[in-house]
Amino acid sequence: MARYVYEFADGGREMAGLLGGKGANLAEMTRLGLPVPPGFTVTTEACRAYLASGTVPDGLDDEVAEHLRALEERMGRRLGRPEDPLLVSVRSGGRFSMPGMMETVLDIGLNDASVLGLARMSGREHFAWDSYRRLIQMFGTTVMGVDGDLFGKALAHHPDPGELPLVVAEFKAVVREATGEDFPQDPADQLRRAIRAVFASWNGERARLYRRREHIPDDLGTAVTVQAMVYGNLGRDSGSGVAFTRDPATGRPGVYGDYLPDAQGEDVVAGVRNALPLQDLEWLDPTAYMELRDYMRILEEHYRDLCDIEFTIERRKLWMLQTRVGKRTAEAAFRVAAQLADDGTLTENEALGRVDGRQLAQLMFPRFDDTAAGPSLARGIPASPGAAVGAVVFDSAEAVRRAAAGEKAVLVRRETTPDDLPGMVAAQAVLTSRGGKTSHAAVVARGMGKTCVCGAEAITVDPRARHFTLADGTVVEEGTVVSVDGTAGTVHLGELPLAPSTVMRYFETGECRSELSRAVDRFMRRADALRRMEVRANADTPEDAERARRFGARGIGLCRTEHMFLGERRPLVEAMILAENDAERERALAALLPRQRSDFTGILAAMDGLPVTIRLLDPPLHEFLPDRTELAVRIATARALGQHPDPHDVRLLAAVERTHEQNPMLGLRGVRLGLTVPGLTAMQVRAIGEAVAERKRAGGDPRAEIMVPLTAAVRELRIVRAEVEQVLADVSSETGVDINCPIGTMIELPRAALTAGAIAGTADFFSFGTNDLTQTTWGFSRDDVEAAFFTTYLDRRIFAASPFESLDEDGVGRLLRLAVTEGRAAHPGLTTGVCGEHGGDPDSLHFFHRAGIDYVSCSPFRVPVARLEAGRAALADE
Ligand code: PEP
Ligand code: MG
Repeated sequence: MARYVYEFADGGREMAGLLGGKGANLAEMTRLGLPVPPGFTVTTEACRAYLASGTVPDGLDDEVAEHLRALEERMGRRLGRPEDPLLVSVRSGGRFSMPGMMETVLDIGLNDASVLGLARMSGREHFAWDSYRRLIQMFGTTVMGVDGDLFGKALAHHPDPGELPLVVAEFKAVVREATGEDFPQDPADQLRRAIRAVFASWNGERARLYRRREHIPDDLGTAVTVQAMVYGNLGRDSGSGVAFTRDPATGRPGVYGDYLPDAQGEDVVAGVRNALPLQDLEWLDPTAYMELRDYMRILEEHYRDLCDIEFTIERRKLWMLQTRVGKRTAEAAFRVAAQLADDGTLTENEALGRVDGRQLAQLMFPRFDDTAAGPSLARGIPASPGAAVGAVVFDSAEAVRRAAAGEKAVLVRRETTPDDLPGMVAAQAVLTSRGGKTSHAAVVARGMGKTCVCGAEAITVDPRARHFTLADGTVVEEGTVVSVDGTAGTVHLGELPLAPSTVMRYFETGECRSELSRAVDRFMRRADALRRMEVRANADTPEDAERARRFGARGIGLCRTEHMFLGERRPLVEAMILAENDAERERALAALLPRQRSDFTGILAAMDGLPVTIRLLDPPLHEFLPDRTELAVRIATARALGQHPDPHDVRLLAAVERTHEQNPMLGLRGVRLGLTVPGLTAMQVRAIGEAVAERKRAGGDPRAEIMVPLTAAVRELRIVRAEVEQVLADVSSETGVDINCPIGTMIELPRAALTAGAIAGTADFFSFGTNDLTQTTWGFSRDDVEAAFFTTYLDRRIFAASPFESLDEDGVGRLLRLAVTEGRAAHPGLTTGVCGEHGGDPDSLHFFHRAGIDYVSCSPFRVPVARLEAGRAALADE
């Protein structure tokens, strides 16, 4: 029979899939001999069964009862026994951390009788009744579905702490009235129901939204840990805190964290009261402090990484309640990995595995220019770095509303709760007046990579009046634009100018003066040494080519030629389209030729010695013609005024109408253009050939490659290839320069992938155009569908991420693998690349590595990310 419950002592860190991160790490700490309150974990498998069928699997309740008995025996107490009750917490904890997104119920086991026992045992009546009140409130809202506000109102009736028994009575009445049922007095019943409620919270709205954002699969389910309660709210000799073994914002080793005397852990995380810095514990309770520092060291050595820890001190006794490899900022990730490699904790390769392309991309964003910042409105805790500008708003709904209208907002709250999640997602930044580095706002924002300043105590937030007030009385109304500097922890009035990041400067100039850029440099070098895939850039100007080269691109994988047909050259293209005979067309093409040649000469010079893959013209011709309606209006207006319309306009309109297509994406474009517009291919190839000749004569080393777009049939490529070869041979003999360009094709249609074996016989290389291949495999056009229904598709989990961002491995990926395999079988040594957007996407890059792709090509700014991820992908082969 399946086993659904594990005692802490029976689990371990490697079981996070089954026990959730929290359960697995509690087990690990138990194994390490750290003081963990005893307990057990109900597996994610049990949760999955519950979610699938709506009932807990057979045998689960008995298994829980059995483990509860063992726990009772260990503790020498019984759950809810009136004299000296054992109380337990019931907490959620999935494979991946989802802070505050699911439910927790504390103090299970309290009822009308055991509350008295707890009062006697603890010697604190107030504490016992307050715990009971908390249980009814938590259980009432999370298990029984009572509106939380009803408890808030009831509590307000009895402000005097001595009236807590009355509050409890009133809370029970609230439960009865709202549900028609009494608050359950049977502790076993409380436990059973709490476990089910935690399971169900996996599918709560907050949790689903968070998972979608963080790309956490929906089918994992949560584990539930049931653990003996310990109390940090038994007086000044008790308390709760959070600790990091290093600064999660900068990676600096030291003592970082918050401590709240006489409080439960929830109070620290909720940021309800401003916590003390953890260092203060040293004089509040030196023994517990020393012990905690010891455990921090043990944990960091054991996990070989930055850990975060939740702990409680109950009457001077330290208890470890949670640990995990801590979330961190992108900067801290790089610095910590480098520090751990420096001190020999990690090998260089292991350290490389600890950083990723998304973090690197974040570090390349600009920051505010300090010199222009001026005095700040307020200062708080730099909880999550970044530079964000937006209009202040005071609730989640307003942030969402503004984001939907395309406006930028900064969400300002006293503190955030999980209900603020939609607003935090929608806002550019989050600013709170209360709470520390480990408050809800800080933890969630850091996880999202969202700018956050918290605990800005000098501001008084009044959400009802929709403004905040500064210490000097200045009022900042909703809608006022502010700049939030999550790195410095400051807020400024108005929009501050931005300064480039030091990491960007490193890529631009090679300068590596800061610890951060040294860490980046170290990992870039490592990745470059390890990776098998080359990284090229998509660039079509000499400037972009130069930048890409500085960023480490080893060539251009896609030079789109279409922009070269726009601007002041548009009339020449119009003339080509309007040409009524060969002579006219040839004149237009002849005028374009020298311009194309000089484009290519510049790019080949910028990428001297490296491959430059130039794609022949791809988009439908109407993209180069004026708008149909505008032309028609112009002509009609002239006629209405009794004038003769401009004859050029009339000819243009006829051409626009002639070239109009219902589905241009599937129309006359790509190789089809080269095959139907006489002279177009020849002109482009001549321009390339002459540019190569010119560069060679100037002593350069041009490596042009010619790429045919949108091929579907091998015969298309054969015909174009013959023409290309002929033109190159002509240019060679005219110039006396040997011109030898590889000629390849894009694979961006399913038919091309399916017939890759045949096509490979005519191609020197394949370059996968995964943008078009995604469109044509799914049968939807990116421009039309992203806004129309992608949100629904993401919501309904038809895909976890847009297939235009992250390659659809099952469909598009399968075609790609097939084409690589069959292409190589027919043409050993065939070079394969990817030049669609996916070439710079971290997840997709790992797939391309596994599929045996030779190079990826992406926009210049993503080149560093692609280098890093290509190196990380190769780590798996080591
Ligand atoms: C592609 O289709 O992936 C591609 C690179 O071509 P474009 O995006 O220019 O259509
Ligand atoms: Mg394409």
